[in-house]
Amino acid sequence: SDELIIRNLRVSIEGKEILKGVNLTLPKGEVHAIMGPNGTGKSTLAYTLMGHPAYEVTDGEVIFKGQNILELEPDERSRLGIFLAFQYPVAIPGVTVANFLRTAVNARRRAQNPEDKGIPIPEFRKLLKAKMELLKVDPSFAGRYLNDGFSGGEKKRAEILQMAVLQPEIAILDETDSGLDIDALRIVAEGVNALRGENLGVLVITHYQRILNYIRPDVVHVMMDGRIVETGDADLALHLEEHGYDWVREKVDNGT
Ligand code: ADP
Ligand code: MG
Ligand code: MG
Repeated sequence: SDELIIRNLRVSIEGKEILKGVNLTLPKGEVHAIMGPNGTGKSTLAYTLMGHPAYEVTDGEVIFKGQNILELEPDERSRLGIFLAFQYPVAIPGVTVANFLRTAVNARRRAQNPEDKGIPIPEFRKLLKAKMELLKVDPSFAGRYLNDGFSGGEKKRAEILQMAVLQPEIAILDETDSGLDIDALRIVAEGVNALRGENLGVLVITHYQRILNYIRPDVVHVMMDGRIVETGDADLALHLEEHGYDWVREKVDNGT
């Protein structure tokens, strides 16, 4: 089906259970945010979806298009149409942004069809031009060497551009608090806003509430102690910004 379904997901690190039964359904066409205090398992969820080997899945499944993606290699997850942003934190000397993106597009095409000869260069140029216009990226950016002296914002710009040319159906973005200046936040947020639409579902895992001042999510989930404990609309994020997490914790502790 056209939903990413996380069902009763339990994950341990070094024998310690971090995710204690996460349930969440992300339909295509919606933007969902996961918020929560530090140390509650948000990055653990992101790493697990990415397929990081240190994270041991002890129970549950993550279904997309009838497959449990937890059983797939990261490149197979990509072929299925899932974009996992921090799958690609690369610095490749001497490779331009454009070449890097073309390689990414070709890897995806070859994963779908081993006989594929790669995207014809004129077609790629057209695709890249269209996406750069959509995202309001200066044309000169395509000729820059990837990650060579990139600011936090420029790294995010390359990442969002990669998402745009790969045209995933589901995108999972873990916006860690480290190195996300206001510039980088806006680039991610404006990128998500430009790309959001009925063919894309986005899960923004935020460590930094401020990003939600720029992206209005359809649904907000609160994670606490390895579970999703509260789900609401965009106003939930505003409420949390104003009142913090204590009231959620009290609700959880009282079992209501
Ligand atoms: P969040 O992203 O919500 O801040 P994390 O998923 O990073 O939370 O961490 C959840 C818990 O898992 C924390 O208690 C953290 O100390 C622990 N943890 C995270 N990564 C590791 C790791 N690689 N080894 C051991 N413990 C870890
Ligand atoms: Mg943390
Ligand atoms: Mg984290």
